[in-house]
Amino acid sequence: MCLQSGGYDLELFVDVPDDGLICSICQGVLRCPVRAACHHVFCKRCIMQWLKRQETCPCCRKPVSQSLIFVMFKLSKAIGRLKIKCRNEIQGCRATFPLSEQYCHSMSCPFELISCPYQGCRAQLLRRDLEAHARHCEHWRQPCHMGCGAVLSQRTRTQHNCYQELRRQYEAKQQSHRAIAAALQRKMRKMQNTMAHMKRQISLICESLEVMDDVVEVDEAEEEEDVAESGTAGSSSSSS
Ligand SMILES: [Zn+2]
Ligand SMILES: [Zn+2]
Ligand SMILES: [Zn+2]
Ligand SMILES: [Zn+2]
Ligand SMILES: [Zn+2]
Repeated sequence: MCLQSGGYDLELFVDVPDDGLICSICQGVLRCPVRAACHHVFCKRCIMQWLKRQETCPCCRKPVSQSLIFVMFKLSKAIGRLKIKCRNEIQGCRATFPLSEQYCHSMSCPFELISCPYQGCRAQLLRRDLEAHARHCEHWRQPCHMGCGAVLSQRTRTQHNCYQELRRQYEAKQQSHRAIAAALQRKMRKMQNTMAHMKRQISLICESLEVMDDVVEVDEAEEEEDVAESGTAGSSSSSS
């Protein structure tokens, strides 16, 4: 019971810690060591709980006042440098590191028991098994890495191919553009044909008009001759 509230478990350390680093209240390695006026050293939490019941040193029975307790920073740092084993040793972690790096290691230890990070999943697993679990976790969700905005599940990720979809749309659009261009070209050719046809028609009309003009001119000339002939004839007849 004492170990829970006080110092570090002796079992945690690679080498057996020095006697001077042991708290006489909890028998663990000092956690946040403090020194009382009598020079005895304890875990801060251990001595604070002790003092709630009696205000004397548990080692020498001298009076101890809460206001005369000092944190031992240097000793705390020295303890932080002691090598410890990973708390997941039973699970299979063989790592050793300074006590001060315990938290850091637990955040990346492959043998740490973690909860599945995907919302709604209640699975508890070792960190190293997360990748295998994620492959069939029903709650796995991840935004498409192409940045299309779709949130994929394990079921949809295999079918999802927004790049292909985009290409398909692009190609369809290109094809429709090509079709429109071809239709426009056809229309233009048709108009050019019509224009050429009309030009031919017009020139034919012009030609026939010219022919008619000649005919009219010829007729008019003949008429004038007739008039002149008849005039002379008339005058001659009237004069006679
Ligand atoms: Zn203690
Ligand atoms: Zn003492
Ligand atoms: Zn570990
Ligand atoms: Zn899961
Ligand atoms: Zn996508």
